[in-house]
Amino acid sequence: MMLLEYQTKSIFSNYDIPIPRGRLAFSALDAKLISEELRGQVVIKAQVLSSGRGKAGGVRLAKNPEEAESLAAKILGMEIRGLKVRKILVDEGVDIRREVYLGISLDRSKRCPILLVSGAGGGDIEEMARYTPEKLVRETINPLTGLHDFQINDLASRIDLPRDLWPDFVKISQSLWQIYQDKDALTVEINPLVITADNRFLALDGKMYIDDNALYRHAEIVQFKEIEGEEEIEAEARKYGFSYVKLSGNIGCAANGAGLAMATMDTIQLWGGKPANFLDIGGGASPERVTAALDMIMSNSSVQVVLINIISAITRCDEVVKGILSSVKASKVVVPVIVRLAGENSEDCLNQLKEAKILTAESLNEAVKMAISFTRG
Ligand code: GDP
Ligand code: MN
Repeated sequence: MMLLEYQTKSIFSNYDIPIPRGRLAFSALDAKLISEELRGQVVIKAQVLSSGRGKAGGVRLAKNPEEAESLAAKILGMEIRGLKVRKILVDEGVDIRREVYLGISLDRSKRCPILLVSGAGGGDIEEMARYTPEKLVRETINPLTGLHDFQINDLASRIDLPRDLWPDFVKISQSLWQIYQDKDALTVEINPLVITADNRFLALDGKMYIDDNALYRHAEIVQFKEIEGEEEIEAEARKYGFSYVKLSGNIGCAANGAGLAMATMDTIQLWGGKPANFLDIGGGASPERVTAALDMIMSNSSVQVVLINIISAITRCDEVVKGILSSVKASKVVVPVIVRLAGENSEDCLNQLKEAKILTAESLNEAVKMAISFTRG
């Protein structure tokens, strides 16, 4: 789970990492009032689960409350990488002398957390790795003995941080390490961590990913969960007990079991097609669930054909067929449907489908080739 900037910063603040003064706003008028309260320049920042908001125009500096209001109105009307901006953060404007990157994430090959620091922060980590790799330095953290101050000081010296700032740099890094452990984070980063004109550190931006497997013990984080856009459909899918992920292709597909769903998508790709989604309807699907799955596939307007791939075992063919027939009868499926069934009882079921004039296939390859032929007119 990814957290929004203001959520991450509220955690920073609980661990004594200095952040700019500021508040969340839901309207342009809110932004104006907050800006009056803060005085001076403010920064208006889109709160969406995406990086690179700055480049997308989602982070803007306002000189006075009137400008804050008009910029806020603009940003609240924006979409950043397909995400509608519903909230903005209004922070005091800061005089920046230097931007640094400071982050902890998991190094899977070392099986240890690492502390990553760049002397040239601000851009995203991929950019830093590409354009200024010599400024990116790291220390492996031994999870048993923890992060040592000397490791942090070593990084500070390697990015030429002025010596008088080292004690604060150590404090902030140790807080970050504490957050990483306490919150079961996969990544926690400050980018940029800035040195202000009056020589203090401030965490201007924060990003955090929490391990989903640990959410059960973090009620305080679960309450941050935002459901928006595509995720709404995915949350709806979870209610029925299946997993759905929307993709960019035009062949809607469903299978029983995640492995079979992946194999179906792979086969579509293999023959040159593009899956519109991943959908595992799970084991033992009832007709109602099959109908719900078809509704979900059809909610994506790019779908030109639907391919259903079922291997009958725990899931019974006849139940699936009932679901398909009732959806088709209710004319909820307005594109061709191709069904491939295998396993117990599949012959009878295939015959039922044929009688109802639904396309069937004996093998997955055959089903996929048929589906692709429909996408090519
Ligand atoms: P991101 O693009 O989503 O990572 O958003 P950030 O919060 O990191 O902001 C992007 C950039 O905007 C930062 O790297 C800064 O250069 C700039 N920025 C953010 N806040 C301020 C501020 O208070 N004052 C100034 N001068 N620049 C800021
Ligand atoms: Mn940033």
